[in-house]
Amino acid sequence: MKNREEVRTLFKTKKVPLTHQRLAVYEELSGRRDHPSAEALYESLRKAYPSLSLATVYKTLQTLHEMGMVARVDSPAAQARYDAIVETHHHAVCTACGRIEDLFDPRLDALPEPKAAGFVISGHSVHFHGLCAKCAKAPSTRTIKEK
Ligand SMILES: [Zn+2]
Ligand SMILES: [Zn+2]
Repeated sequence: MKNREEVRTLFKTKKVPLTHQRLAVYEELSGRRDHPSAEALYESLRKAYPSLSLATVYKTLQTLHEMGMVARVDSPAAQARYDAIVETHHHAVCTACGRIEDLFDPRLDALPEPKAAGFVISGHSVHFHGLCAKCAKAPSTRTIKEK
């Protein structure tokens, strides 16, 4: 995650204009650990930025992703989820409520590269799925919401 000065420098280096809205999307995402979807980010930002549109949030996330500042998280839900932590880490995904938690584990970082025919591996991220602490306690929510 980058602070405001680092963000400014990065945009300048990459010659991408840093608008208020782009900065707002990045700062909102880096302030959250719930791996929000574009829709969730838009919902939290629309009050403070009435001129912001969902399309702008999508485009900004795409730009930040291309700049290497934001990662997309694999999720069983249909919506893409975003992460301001781009360093290697792993996730636990709740199949009931869609909650995604970060996992930092050097044993997972050190997984041996599989031999996949002709495939040049550039990285990996392990994804465990199951029920989060809250959903595990509430049997009535044991349904997959989105597929
Ligand atoms: Zn859950
Ligand atoms: Zn994460």
